[in-house]
Amino acid sequence: MKQRAEITFEIEETIVVRQGEKLSREFCPLCGIVVDMLTPQFATAASKKPVRQIFRLIEAGKVHFSETDGGLICLDCLTASSAEQ
Ligand SMILES: [Zn+2]
Repeated sequence: MKQRAEITFEIEETIVVRQGEKLSREFCPLCGIVVDMLTPQFATAASKKPVRQIFRLIEAGKVHFSETDGGLICLDCLTASSAEQ
């Protein structure tokens, strides 16, 4: 007798950002306050923007980018810039 096994893959879109792991707090000169800084990977997931668009906003000076830990992006700037478009 043969047994059938059904395997279901569930893709969770929930983004978990833990303090001190992939998120750090830095002063953003554009926002003028201390903000949450995310890695490009997390910034893409959090804003649902393609990486290319995020880097275009950084180049345009609309989003603050820090060289810390291989590059961190200000989430507040990114949220503010998404409201404009
Ligand atoms: Zn900012």
